[in-house]
Amino acid sequence: MRSTITAAALAACLAAPALAAAPPAADDAAFRALYKELVETNTDHKIGDCTTAARQIATRMKAAGFTDAELNVFVPEGLPLDGGLIATMAGSDTSKGAVMLLAHLDVVEARREDWVREPFKLIEDGGYLYARGTADDKAQAAIWADTLIRLRQAGAKPKRTLKMVLSCGEESLPRINNIRWLIEKHPEWIKADFALNEGGSGALKDDGSPLALGFQAGEKVTQNFVIEATNPGGHSSVPRPDNAIYALATALGRLAAYDFPVRFNDVTRNMFTTLAAMTPAPVGPAMARLVANPADAEANAIVSADPRFHSMLRTTCVATLLDGGHAINALPQRARATVNCRMFPSDKPDEVKAAIVAAIGDAPVTVTAIPPVNPVNPPPQLSEEVFGTAKKVAAKHWPGIPVVPTMSTGATDGRFLIQAGIPTYGVPGFFAEPETNAHGLNERISVKGLMEGRAYLFDLTKAYAGLK
Ligand SMILES: [Zn+2]
Repeated sequence: MRSTITAAALAACLAAPALAAAPPAADDAAFRALYKELVETNTDHKIGDCTTAARQIATRMKAAGFTDAELNVFVPEGLPLDGGLIATMAGSDTSKGAVMLLAHLDVVEARREDWVREPFKLIEDGGYLYARGTADDKAQAAIWADTLIRLRQAGAKPKRTLKMVLSCGEESLPRINNIRWLIEKHPEWIKADFALNEGGSGALKDDGSPLALGFQAGEKVTQNFVIEATNPGGHSSVPRPDNAIYALATALGRLAAYDFPVRFNDVTRNMFTTLAAMTPAPVGPAMARLVANPADAEANAIVSADPRFHSMLRTTCVATLLDGGHAINALPQRARATVNCRMFPSDKPDEVKAAIVAAIGDAPVTVTAIPPVNPVNPPPQLSEEVFGTAKKVAAKHWPGIPVVPTMSTGATDGRFLIQAGIPTYGVPGFFAEPETNAHGLNERISVKGLMEGRAYLFDLTKAYAGLK
């Protein structure tokens, strides 16, 4: 998934001077061909085929000089369409681990009858490239492959090992998720000091010029709960004071009124501090007060009025599914709601459950965590090597445009890698146009944005690899 929440939030708050963008790279024909082939290979979870996409990219890399030993097309047992590709370019400095270049090959299903254009044909129209996956996440997948191809063709000798991991199943978790599978079955294949992923962002001003770049470090963690009331029931002609639907309604009403406490980590503290300095009153000063004192109720009310900031500041739990009763003329024997929580990275499932139970009080319901009970992710560090390098390279491509650390309220494969001990960062590079519509109809990316992202990510990879 690719979240544009952060970009939108930044766009709402930041102001920066307009500047000319970096020119597109000259040798873009080979990249465009790779990208087109990848986009036009359907990789949805219904009839799509990630394995073919992985093989197509491996074929292009082999033609560019990669050996079979450097290219690992893997296919999980019993799932011939759910393969991926790991391509390794060994570094000379064995004292340092690899940098992982991560992207997912699979896409969300797209129905031809709903789309204006063919969803699996790359169509350029008015400066935009339309097709499913043009943005999420085949732009980044194609750029990583293209980056390694260009480095190999130039005879580059990286200091740090570069390890590209193109995975399947990020969007269709119930069938398989390659990253989880790799962590479980082949952790040695994906060993890395840190990973560069989707999830970063760029915010544009109304005139289309760059406003700010978001560097994503950390994600909230999903945990679902069921709140349930049961009752002996009976004939609806003889109502009783105890009623499963009313008990559940009472519990949900109390949960709706409850707000989890404000939390900060290094990333969000840095982000709100940066935004505070650039945001007009009353929101900007309220952000500064809240960073200084998370218990400042008045500042909290001002900042949290924006649902995106509200979510970044705390764990949230919201009722998303409802089910109750069994007959129109019977007292309900069971009423149940599913509550979707997005935990702040330092909160734990048990603590969140305890907070829900406390908020509900004496309403006669049970609260149960739905498996999987997700472990807590430590937020990745914003080290000088990782964040400082990204800022330096961004300053060359977009002079004067701030790079702001962000935390995603949604989730990517980064949550599995971070749990496995590999700090994972959503690197910027693409500016989110309002109508990118990842996961939705008529997904698109601007040609200019794609090529600028390619140029930035190429230089960023070189910088991390210790290449001039
Ligand atoms: Zn994605």
